[in-house]
Amino acid sequence: AVNSPTKRICIVGAGPAGFYAAQYILKTLSDCVVDVIEKLPVPFGLVRFGVAPDHPEVKNVINTFNKTAEHKNFNFFGNVTLGKDISLQELRERYHAVLLTYGADQDRELNIPNENQPNVLSARKFVAWYNGLPGEQDLNPNLSGRSVAILGQGNVAVDAARMLLSSVDALRKTDTTEYALEALSRSKVEQVYLVGRRGPLQAAFTIKELREMLKLPNVQTIWKPDDFTDVPAHLPNLPRPRKRLTELMLKSLSEQSSSSSSNRAQRPIPTDKIDHLPAELILRSIGYKSTCVDGGICFDDRGGRVFNESGRVLKDATSKSVDKGLYVAGWLGTGPTGVILTTMNGAFGVAKTLCDDIISNEVDTSSSKAGSEAKQYGRVVTWSHWHRINQAEIKAGERLGKPREKL
Ligand code: FAD
Repeated sequence: AVNSPTKRICIVGAGPAGFYAAQYILKTLSDCVVDVIEKLPVPFGLVRFGVAPDHPEVKNVINTFNKTAEHKNFNFFGNVTLGKDISLQELRERYHAVLLTYGADQDRELNIPNENQPNVLSARKFVAWYNGLPGEQDLNPNLSGRSVAILGQGNVAVDAARMLLSSVDALRKTDTTEYALEALSRSKVEQVYLVGRRGPLQAAFTIKELREMLKLPNVQTIWKPDDFTDVPAHLPNLPRPRKRLTELMLKSLSEQSSSSSSNRAQRPIPTDKIDHLPAELILRSIGYKSTCVDGGICFDDRGGRVFNESGRVLKDATSKSVDKGLYVAGWLGTGPTGVILTTMNGAFGVAKTLCDDIISNEVDTSSSKAGSEAKQYGRVVTWSHWHRINQAEIKAGERLGKPREKL
């Protein structure tokens, strides 16, 4: 409408959920400004600090995010933390709608004795370390022993295993940070155990990650045959993706039995109830966890996510009434599962709900709102600042023969 004020929308978190939602909103609402505030000085969330360096093709989603960021009605405010530099209350006064997409940046814990011993680390920290997350550069994982045990069998566990077992020369061509390459080049690790509480039929890694592991040069994947006793019988009834994954595990197992029957080191370890695995380093890889960063958020502590219905945040858990103008998407809304594609589909869905609510006046946009200005936040990183960081990183990478060296 001619006289209605500009619709101001704030997105908290510049990961995939935030960027995909921004893309959808900017395309759908004619007269709107989307401001993204981000805790870190740099954008892209887990695409930059989670996705493994040897998965450069996955990071191509950044091209799409860049296009969104170049839209004239998009603003980036990096180095601004919700709950510290600004409160949710303030954001809600400044914007017609607020979309929370600040992800899951803590870890789930096992809650067992000795979990916090020096050589027990979370895989999240290990991943953050090799990916150059500010604050994790001094993690100093102990790579002086022969064996590492990873607790968990999801894609993150497989990523960590692959990083530990890949040749450093191969990793030098990736954007693995220099300090991590240096440490990995001195690594004595030869053996990585992936420990899961359930069996092959519940393995949480995907077939792509398994294939990569099976093809890793100079690495042999060893299965415990006992784990597979009942598995073939279940094959016909499995859904297709799980069936293909299980078939690949069985194929790899059969190759192991035929080629290695005389090799003592590859025999299954006899078990009763307890396995003893010698490991100088243990990585706990049982999942990420979201936290409540502002008292104004209706947060499900047990589920580790924001209470919501189809992305509309609830006022409280019991009444089920919606807190109008407040939305959640990405891992913060769904829990920390799913790949970027899943996150994208979810974020598009929530962004559609938000736009529908504005178009149908379910969310009031009749009064004008102030939005944000860079100067209000102190040491803010804008998109043009990020451009300069990006250029400097690419230049530093060129000298080292890699795509970038992260600052
Ligand atoms: P995030 O990517 O975590 O983004 C959240 C953003 O919010 C971050 O930038 C964070 O800094 C910011 N933030 C946090 N707190 C605040 C605050 N208080 N104020 C402001 N900003 C805040 N998917 C694939 O498709 N392929 C892969 O190969 C792959 N590898 C992965 C490897 C690892 C180790 C992990 C953990 C995940 C991987 N994924 C992969 C999954 C993918 O990363 C997620 O699906 C996706 O990143 C979730 O997006 P998000 O926007 O919800 O969260």
